[in-house]
Amino acid sequence: MVKFLDLQKINALYQQDLNEAFNRVLKSGWFIHGQELRNFEKQFADYCGVDHAIGVANGLDALNLIIRAYKELGLFKEGDEIVVPANTYIASVLAISENRLVPVLVEPDELSYNINPELIRDHITGRTVAILAVHLYGQLAEMEKINAIAAEFSLKVIEDSAQAHGAIFANGIKAGALGDASGFSFYPGKNLGALGDAGAVTTNNRELAEIIRSLSNYGSQAKYYNDFQGINSRLDELQAAFLSVKLKYLDQDTDKKRSVVHRYLSEISNDKVLLPTVLHQNSHVWHLFVIRVQDRAAFVEHMKMNNIETVIHYPIPVHKQVAYKYFNNLSLPITEKIHREVVSLPLSSVLSDHEVSQVIACVNSF
Ligand SMILES: *Cc1c(COP(=O)(O)O)cnc(C)c1O
Repeated sequence: MVKFLDLQKINALYQQDLNEAFNRVLKSGWFIHGQELRNFEKQFADYCGVDHAIGVANGLDALNLIIRAYKELGLFKEGDEIVVPANTYIASVLAISENRLVPVLVEPDELSYNINPELIRDHITGRTVAILAVHLYGQLAEMEKINAIAAEFSLKVIEDSAQAHGAIFANGIKAGALGDASGFSFYPGKNLGALGDAGAVTTNNRELAEIIRSLSNYGSQAKYYNDFQGINSRLDELQAAFLSVKLKYLDQDTDKKRSVVHRYLSEISNDKVLLPTVLHQNSHVWHLFVIRVQDRAAFVEHMKMNNIETVIHYPIPVHKQVAYKYFNNLSLPITEKIHREVVSLPLSSVLSDHEVSQVIACVNSF
């Protein structure tokens, strides 16, 4: 059986380092907001090429807190609009609506699956305050165009980098440093994954960073003095220690995925399968290898019969979810078509050559 993502095998690579990290934290007796978090925040900020990284509890909170901090700064208010891709994981949209701002859903480019920058202008109104760009499946959105539109209309640019740790834009700048602020997730299956929930915000804006740091810790900078009605969203010492271990191997991991992808792209040849489009080599870190097949149900069944796991990212678009009834009548045909056809193949740094060959043979025999 070829597993979609073998987290046991992935984390076993770092078992000794992870055990050491665990023992260090256990022995320290200090579990929240300590040296491990400070170390990881510094390492991650350096890795992304930004001044500030703030560890939080998960990726959704990271995005949420960015928007909340802009509200506290008086730059966003309830009812303001944020442009966001319709073709994304629901968290990108939840962060906007949880803050009582209005998500304005924009169709993707049909090949990159990321927001189509040509359509953004038409969705900007007098209430638009930001563009939330998602780097879906690990491929950077077209940030040059997005930043130019944002500059033209004085909008903030928020990156959802939950799937794009380490992706490098054509200008050499990394995910997390391409907008005003960025949210990262370290959910176990992400490119940089903790052994539980974790997330971070990155930014070069010191004021914003301080507010987010405070908001994520009960709105408090000094213990028991509360400046904001904050939340509890902290990245704990254990997860920070694990993430410091795994960050060291992130680029190496991505390279291994790239070599699997290289084989998929050169050896899969089946007219029924649409392979992913890569805009720039280093701007894709392959969180997922997503193909499109018109008769998806039959394809998934074919793979399953041959003991190969596939997953669908994602089966139902945000605007068709029960949770967003008020969007249900929207017509977003490109997003809907993509959601009908996409299917993700196994991809990780621990797939063997033999497993990759099995996947390729199976896709080609469909
Ligand atoms: C995973 C993910 C999130 C949310 O991260 P969590 O840590 O699960 O809260 C947000 N956006 C995208 C695009 C994601 O893939």
